[in-house]
Amino acid sequence: MILPVVAFGDPVLRQVAEDITPEYEGLSTLIENMFETMYDSSGIGLAAPQIGLPIRLFIVDGSDIEDDPSTKDFKKIFINAQILEEFDTAWEYEEGCLSIPFVRANVKRNAKVTIQYLDENFVQKTETYEGMAARIIQHEYDHIEGVLFTDHLSPLKKKSLLKRLGNITLGAIQVDYKMSFPGGKKPRMI
Ligand code: ZN
Repeated sequence: MILPVVAFGDPVLRQVAEDITPEYEGLSTLIENMFETMYDSSGIGLAAPQIGLPIRLFIVDGSDIEDDPSTKDFKKIFINAQILEEFDTAWEYEEGCLSIPFVRANVKRNAKVTIQYLDENFVQKTETYEGMAARIIQHEYDHIEGVLFTDHLSPLKKKSLLKRLGNITLGAIQVDYKMSFPGGKKPRMI
């Protein structure tokens, strides 16, 4: 089932998400729905707060990204993740976000990240990623900490985006995937 993606301005995107247990009701269906939602919107990552749930769960699939060995077979589920370390030279890349359509901006992030998490079977893993895989993890991890990529921009850049972000909150945009706008409009598909 495709779920509506929560738009910028919804308070759920600002919450620090909570850990879950293996008993979390309907978890496997939720994960299935999140993958379906992510593919429908051509995303490469989706965090639970983006579908309205303040829990520490995010999924990624960067396996379609060409010319990047770091994302080969990079289809994964991260539960109760904690970033242990971000290191190595920071690099800039133009990021976007399914919750913030049509806004893209360069974000500087460290090149490598070590993350501890539980997989879909609640087996604990500690892994280090680099390249685009690291960046996708850092972006999605931000979501479960209540942080958005726009928070990393300069005050001037943020100011220049205010009107567009306001329009997103109001739903005054046309998106080709299902979204839910906190500005009062019902989820819709255009
Ligand atoms: Zn995002």
